[in-house]
Amino acid sequence: MSFIVAIDGPAGTGKGTITEIISKKLNLVNIGTGSAYRCVALAAIENNINIDDTEKIVDLLDKIKIEFKKINDKDLIFLNGKDVTKRLREKDVSTTVSKVSLIKDVRFKLTDIFKKQAETRDVIMEGRDIGTCVFPNADVKIFLDASLDERIRRRVKQNEELGIDMSLQEIEENMRQRDYDDKTREFGALKQADDAIYIDSSDLSIDEVVNKVIDIINVKKEKIKRE
Ligand code: C5P
Repeated sequence: MSFIVAIDGPAGTGKGTITEIISKKLNLVNIGTGSAYRCVALAAIENNINIDDTEKIVDLLDKIKIEFKKINDKDLIFLNGKDVTKRLREKDVSTTVSKVSLIKDVRFKLTDIFKKQAETRDVIMEGRDIGTCVFPNADVKIFLDASLDERIRRRVKQNEELGIDMSLQEIEENMRQRDYDDKTREFGALKQADDAIYIDSSDLSIDEVVNKVIDIINVKKEKIKRE
């Protein structure tokens, strides 16, 4: 049986950063599920498909191949054989992705892909609905949160580091809109699982969050050993 760690929470809470660090420290496969939703949005953009054209987007799913790879110790994502890791963070993808992730068939197809990733390997998976829909029986469930101001501040910094050009106002509008879309959609809505541990990272450093989560994982592993 694989050991599964599910990390959910809204954008900008540091989920991606902390899961990458923990995956290396504990030798877990790191799957950022938001990148897969972003791949579908990017494929729609590249194929000039209107984001409201659900039928065409669902057809597109059979023509795209999404791969999670680790190369030179970096987690990369490939769409149809091309490394799109950085491209996925650009504005056009960020502003369309939550519309694509509303589509039920997109969610079902990607959920299947995510489940396969953990069939034979121990994973740490981050997203919005991992502890509620993808792995309701995950060994460890964390709901990572932070204040909106802090999340915006972190996204500004991340965009600067990646060289992505978005104004403060665009970042705030995008985050508010995605929060709304993610929390109110019919399938796979963003919400804390009943048995998830809530962590507010607003005033915590990356290391502090990493250590907290590792402590929780270790306690669970000890418990499994004793059973
Ligand atoms: O985590 P990230 O910001 O890259 O996610 C991008 C978008 O993908 C989210 O705003 C959400 O709409 C969608 N998503 C989702 N379910 C997940 C992960 C991400 O709907 N499990």
